[in-house]
Amino acid sequence: MTTWRCATATNVGLVREANEDAVAATDRMVVVADGMGGHAAGEVASELAVSVFARAITSEPSVAELNTALHVVNQAILDDALAHPERAGMGTTLTAIVPVSYEDGEALAWVNIGDSRLYQLRDGAIRQVTEDHSVAEEWVREGRISKEEAAVHPRRHQLTRVLGMADALDGDTGVLSVKVGDRLLLCSDGLTNEVSDTELAELASSPIGLDDAVASLVARACANGGHDNITVALLEVESVSVAVPEIAVTPSSVRTFPASRAHASDTGETVMRRRRRNLPRWMTLRTGIFASAMAGLVAAVFVILGWFASASFYLGDANGSIAVYQGQPDGFLWYHPKEVFVTSFKSSELRPGDARELKKHIAESSLSAAIRHADNMHSAWLTTQPTVAP
Ligand code: MG
Repeated sequence: MTTWRCATATNVGLVREANEDAVAATDRMVVVADGMGGHAAGEVASELAVSVFARAITSEPSVAELNTALHVVNQAILDDALAHPERAGMGTTLTAIVPVSYEDGEALAWVNIGDSRLYQLRDGAIRQVTEDHSVAEEWVREGRISKEEAAVHPRRHQLTRVLGMADALDGDTGVLSVKVGDRLLLCSDGLTNEVSDTELAELASSPIGLDDAVASLVARACANGGHDNITVALLEVESVSVAVPEIAVTPSSVRTFPASRAHASDTGETVMRRRRRNLPRWMTLRTGIFASAMAGLVAAVFVILGWFASASFYLGDANGSIAVYQGQPDGFLWYHPKEVFVTSFKSSELRPGDARELKKHIAESSLSAAIRHADNMHSAWLTTQPTVAP
């Protein structure tokens, strides 16, 4: 029999309002799930994942049965979404460790779907066992980008496989070659996005108690930003039933999701974009670009309206003097005309025709042209005045 000790923690982080991660651990199973979906659906999906998976695991499962259990979980999520339309589109990752029948004894097997991860730690070294089901990681496997490029690639959060997105999805499975004292770390991406592999190795391998090690991992993720929910399960192998010579990994075939539930990717697959940093579900790249374009258009309209409202000048009366105003005489929308210059000419010192024009306002194209017009009107009025004898 293979046995272990285990400590777990799940933390909402510093940015998210709710924790959509879930974790469960018994002496026969450890499972981590990271849910996604609006209206609290992410919490429902991850909780369903850990609870249904635990029930679906038989007492002595084979590796193949791990995927059977995944199918049961997947169907439970789809059924729940059907019964609760507000949860449509919810999904979850799942990473689990389960003892399985192996040769004459028992070995530790893992199953993974999504981008939660399993690491193995031995003598301070760390090895990532699972591969993320994200567009960026798929590209790494295809040789299109490097591992380093994938680590910072904008599509590393775009998932190609999660539970709840299609009828029958397989996860990757494998059997671990473990020794007594090895530690196994299962975690959601809220940990791995914030904490480097070097830090993970240092903290998870630390010869302190498992509870303290788990607490230090969560604390480090929070110290580094805590942008997402953080879930950690750390187990230490206490006894091994049978030696496993090689680490056998069985990647499942990639399945295609129905187009109506996911976005087409460059790989020809379809993907589910994970929400990042509390963005609303409707805030996709496409809606972002559309919103930016609309905001730009609205800003441009405001600039044009403002220019139209303030680009003209006119002459009018200001307490008996001829004044120059900027704007439209009756205002335009919320733009009101403003007095910008008061001449020394009295409104009463105009010829009758000019005085009538002034009451109706006299438009000019610029401030100087308006002042010149006032001067001309006053000069014309002066020529009509009788000459005063010296
Ligand atoms: Mg997450």
